[in-house]
Amino acid sequence: MSFEPLPPALAQCRSCARLVEHREQVAREKRRSYRDQEYWGRPVPGFGDPSARIVLLGLAPGAHGSNRTGRMFTGDASGDFLYPALHRAGLANRPTAVSSQDGLALSDVWITSAARCVPPGNKPLREELVNCRRWLAHDLAGLRNARLVVALGSIGHDSYLEYLKGNGARLVKRDYPFGHGRLHRLEEVGGLPLLDSFHPSFQNTNTGRLTAQMFDELLAQARRLVEAEPG
Ligand code: SF4
Repeated sequence: MSFEPLPPALAQCRSCARLVEHREQVAREKRRSYRDQEYWGRPVPGFGDPSARIVLLGLAPGAHGSNRTGRMFTGDASGDFLYPALHRAGLANRPTAVSSQDGLALSDVWITSAARCVPPGNKPLREELVNCRRWLAHDLAGLRNARLVVALGSIGHDSYLEYLKGNGARLVKRDYPFGHGRLHRLEEVGGLPLLDSFHPSFQNTNTGRLTAQMFDELLAQARRLVEAEPG
């Protein structure tokens, strides 16, 4: 069966009442500069190359980014940092992401997130992350060539560990503390290796907590790791 990034059950998912209300409210009210655009306002599907070896696992849609455009990291400051880096690394055919129709294509990378609906204040509740883990599982089950998960931030990191625990992995999360550049070998508990990065949020990139050079080095490390992983 072919991998369907937006199955009907995801497109229609309303499991988290708080997030459903928020995503639709943001889409109705809009930011002034986008008032002429129709917002997506629904769960955002994963995006990229279905044959990818590298899976980027972020937090959740941005209110006026992917909740507006319907594509991961598209149309906001995080994407303005992420996609040029993917392009420099040879993983994207262009450095910009402005809409789902802009011709952007990724190679060897898939982008997914811990929550598919925009949370107030960028902070999903624990039960919302639990609800949405089935959609992370959906992507990971469809990505048959995945060799490495790159967590974009600690919530992505946590979600991957919780996903493994949900699949029966006997692991203790404190044995795998989050840290930028840290690699967690999870093969012994049935997982893929997990490489941590700070999230490319405006807050992190604007303050220099995450620089372009740091992220370029992390992507280079990711590429070396997948080249070394058995196919
Ligand atoms: Fe459904 Fe996930 Fe959105 Fe919750 S966050 S409503 S589980 S798609």
